[in-house]
Amino acid sequence: MEERKPLLEVRHLKKYFGLGGKKELKAVDDVSFVIYKGETFGIVGESGCGKTTCGRTCIGVYDATGGEVLYDGKDIRKQTKQERKEFTRKVQMIFQDPYSSLDPRLKVHDIIAEGMQIHHLVSSKKEEETMVQRLLRQVGLNPEHAGRYVHEFSGGQRQRIGIARALAVDPEFLLCDEPISALDVSVQAQIINLLVRLQKERGLTSVFIAHDLSMVKHISDRVGVMYLGSMVELASNYDLYGEPLHPYTQALISAIPMADPDGEATRERIKLEGEVPSPINPPPGCKFRPRCRYAMDICEKEAPKLIEVKPNHFVACHLCHQQHK
Ligand code: SF4
Repeated sequence: MEERKPLLEVRHLKKYFGLGGKKELKAVDDVSFVIYKGETFGIVGESGCGKTTCGRTCIGVYDATGGEVLYDGKDIRKQTKQERKEFTRKVQMIFQDPYSSLDPRLKVHDIIAEGMQIHHLVSSKKEEETMVQRLLRQVGLNPEHAGRYVHEFSGGQRQRIGIARALAVDPEFLLCDEPISALDVSVQAQIINLLVRLQKERGLTSVFIAHDLSMVKHISDRVGVMYLGSMVELASNYDLYGEPLHPYTQALISAIPMADPDGEATRERIKLEGEVPSPINPPPGCKFRPRCRYAMDICEKEAPKLIEVKPNHFVACHLCHQQHK
């Protein structure tokens, strides 16, 4: 088997937001994982679990409070000016809200061409025009609409413009932050299919951040589950959905509707009691304990570490650690 090469290595990453006085919101609290070249990695969890902050801190949008992020082996905080510029080209983001992420004062051509100009990827106006038209075609838009403004497009079309803008600088890493959650259900699958196709054609490495586990299931090679700023389970798509080990993941997966009506009628749904506790004042020990039906004494005293309990299957739960000793 070909050896997997890491592209992004996240080590003990922390991102805290000060709230005045001694209060701070621990949005990401000691998270470690690796993303390999060419893979699609899903990060899932309920809203407020820190997945978006984690993604953004990994690509340098936010400065980390602690820990480190290595891109292609180099700490992103130690990049030279030139390396930083290259990093901002190689790493692109698809935003949740195509309405606010595109400048309404610019024509579509200018939105897409801006990055090419910044990174000197085109040498003439003619070449720029050809590139923009090609990109519009690639994302399923009419190249003749390059002269229009964003408000003339539907939500799905705007997301396609956002994708064209990201691809315009020939990236190698795409962070897709809830890319379909603001769109009509009718166009969600089209955008996902487009992203999957483009990722394969261009050999991109991608991270999909989503609260919708069923969306991530169909596109990810591996998935990490976050809860209250921590990664509680990380496994291949096959293992995570086939045999979830953490009680939180089990509950999330049990809530995904099944296509088969017989299976849907007979399966057990695990109801998650209560709300996600505040990340400002999380419970001691395992942060999932107040909602966990298996909680034991140790869960209150000690925070479980993310440990590999089966090959390439990591979980942060005392009960799972005991069961897989
Ligand atoms: Fe539940 Fe304890 Fe596992 Fe936390 S560590 S998920 S409380 S069993």
